[in-house]
Amino acid sequence: MKFLDLDELSDEDKLLKEEVHRFAVEVMRPASIELDRMEPEERVKPNSPYFRVFREMKKLGYHKITIPAEMGGVDLTPLQRYMIMEELGWGSLGLATAIGVDQIPFACAALFGPPELYEELVVPWLEDDKGKYHGCWGVTEPEHGSDYLIALREDEELVRKFGKGNVVAEKDGDEWIISGQKSAWVSSAPVATHCGLHAQLKDGKTLLDGLFCIVPLDADGVRKGRPADMLGMRDDPQGELFFDGVRIPESHVVVAPGFFYGVFLDQLLCLTSCGMGAFAVGLARAAFEEALSYARERVQGGVPLVRHKNIKLKLYEMFEKIETARYYVRKVTEYTHRRIIDERTADASPRHARAAQIYAKRIAFEVANDALQIFGASGLSREFIIEKLFRDARALQIEDGTVEVLSLEAGEDVVENYEKDYYDVEKISKWYD
Ligand SMILES: Cc1cc2nc3c(=O)[nH]c(=O)nc-3n(C[C@H](O)[C@H](O)[C@H](O)COP(=O)(O)OP(=O)(O)OC[C@H]3O[C@@H](n4cnc5c(N)ncnc54)[C@H](O)[C@@H]3O)c2cc1C
Repeated sequence: MKFLDLDELSDEDKLLKEEVHRFAVEVMRPASIELDRMEPEERVKPNSPYFRVFREMKKLGYHKITIPAEMGGVDLTPLQRYMIMEELGWGSLGLATAIGVDQIPFACAALFGPPELYEELVVPWLEDDKGKYHGCWGVTEPEHGSDYLIALREDEELVRKFGKGNVVAEKDGDEWIISGQKSAWVSSAPVATHCGLHAQLKDGKTLLDGLFCIVPLDADGVRKGRPADMLGMRDDPQGELFFDGVRIPESHVVVAPGFFYGVFLDQLLCLTSCGMGAFAVGLARAAFEEALSYARERVQGGVPLVRHKNIKLKLYEMFEKIETARYYVRKVTEYTHRRIIDERTADASPRHARAAQIYAKRIAFEVANDALQIFGASGLSREFIIEKLFRDARALQIEDGTVEVLSLEAGEDVVENYEKDYYDVEKISKWYD
């Protein structure tokens, strides 16, 4: 690859990297450009290129990367998982996100859920090589975008101010009844078959009085909204989910109400932060590479753009930002995956995961912006992919928590917990036992 690998990669690492890059170049990229130009309703039809990507991806097994090998996942090191995610982000931020959210219900069920759920849902999803199963992640609600993240705080007074959740769950015998609505921005919702859903207890006082469950989206009482028409990330359809008295069995509850629910939410956000961080680095790299090759070709003032000092300096600054972000996200991902997936300790550090996501998101936008500037007017033309990368980088500043709110939350954590452990590690390990 064109960027220096400071960690010495094994032959196996190199082969894997080449394989994923090939998938990104040959399958993801062309489909993402096609999808970006289609109407929202067209993108979700069965003959859409979206499903072609998913079928190919499932054959290669990239949906299994966050499942431990002994549970039927792929035997990968944390570094290899990072490499896969960065390459997917290089291919397409939207499709990488779709591949990421597909894992959420099933990987959470494998890592944190009851054994019967593993047999019933995780095994068929793991074995699926035709794209029959597709997960999504229902967190945000019309009234609770940033609030859902802020609700993680333990300050009861503050959390109480955020009010009632829209999606609520009520126990009825050995079933749960789910009602309410998730926001219009749930990635892949229009095409998903299962949702990893956060619901507040009907009589819960705060959003933290909740549970995480899996809802099959063909269940009675589920309705999907129309796919949203967005500025960026158009290659992954977003849409609302409505639940009207939907009944799920107790076994579909991955994390029950109680002490662990907040820890789980935090750990899940650590994993998604690493994913978003790696995708952001991949996207930044894609924008940089486009700008570099354009600047080598385009002649102005009698010489290629790269010979102008301001362009050279800009390209260097882009390189520096990408390498810095990449190194940090990679290290945080290695640590986070080791704690959550390999050692199953559920005590990864949210402030580090957030810092990795925030930093990578921020530099992805700066790099995409600079890359577009290097293209001049051509950068605004749809003839070149750089305008899509720029729009995707813009969407990234909001997806999975706005950079401002993520920064405020990480800042709160630094101020409150800098000198101490974030978790009561003993309490968590007892819960696991
Ligand atoms: C492409 C994309 C994909 C997404 N995918 C998913 C998904 O798969 N599942 C899902 O559940 N959701 C998803 N979302 C939703 C996403 O998580 C939310 O959009 C995000 O958390 C922000 O919420 P909001 O849009 O309601 O903005 P708001 O929360 O309304 O924020 C509006 C503005 O106010 C600021 N703000 C809000 N609260 C505070 C505060 N307390 N202090 C300071 N500033 C504040 C924000 O920074 C922002 O600038 C996705 C969004 C996008 C754009």
